[in-house]
Amino acid sequence: MIERPEPRYSGYILDLDGTIYLSDHLIPGAKATLAWLRKHERRVLFLSNKPLEPRSHYAAKLERLGIPAHTEDVINSTESLLHYLQQHHSGAILWVIGEPLLSQEFREAGFGLSDDPTAIDIVVAAFDRTLDYAKLNTAHQALVRGARFYATNADRTCPIAGGELPDCAGVIAFLEATTGREVELVAGKPSEHILRAAVDRLGVPRRDCLMVGDRLATDMRMGIENGLDTALVLSGVTSQDALAQSGLKPTYVLQSVAELP
Ligand SMILES: [Mg+2]
Repeated sequence: MIERPEPRYSGYILDLDGTIYLSDHLIPGAKATLAWLRKHERRVLFLSNKPLEPRSHYAAKLERLGIPAHTEDVINSTESLLHYLQQHHSGAILWVIGEPLLSQEFREAGFGLSDDPTAIDIVVAAFDRTLDYAKLNTAHQALVRGARFYATNADRTCPIAGGELPDCAGVIAFLEATTGREVELVAGKPSEHILRAAVDRLGVPRRDCLMVGDRLATDMRMGIENGLDTALVLSGVTSQDALAQSGLKPTYVLQSVAELP
């Protein structure tokens, strides 16, 4: 067997679903590729856009599928927002429209949470299956008093086993319509914030990072607009036809991560 050459980049940012695995099955070659990158001491980060599960769940899933991973190896939209808040709003008091696990992540990162609209510095909108009128009302009261308005994601739906559920976009639209405010920052893909959080974590220059993913509108657009080389993998949602119609030009188009340069 021919020895695989050394990886071309120092840092690799890898999307998960459609790139490393498809639901509960590894993409063929993914495990060997990760082993090859790590054998050559390349920096690797996994990127998920979902704010629903803590990063540790994704690390545990990768481990279960045979790819060693720690919580710190995963960045999701929650982590992206936390990275931004820690840099720009350290010590801020938050009101989080999100599920209990999400609120816990913000608390563990050192942020105070309050339901007193006069004390809230920042309203965070996220996916929330425990949403009720009281939560929306607290967010509304804080926003009309001038609290900042941030969101983890702006997706319209969130895929959950069995179907699609309304996601953050509905919460954002409600609050924008009732307060006249506009959301000021969305932390997840394709925003520059999640990419910046990933590049900072990798600790290598952008020109030496490769963004790898299966979605044109998020993974590829975000990489291209932020000056990274990009690799589109055709193992997920994107076909050659869709690529041709998109007008986007990734640096590489690969059948899967098994062909990573
Ligand atoms: Mg994907």
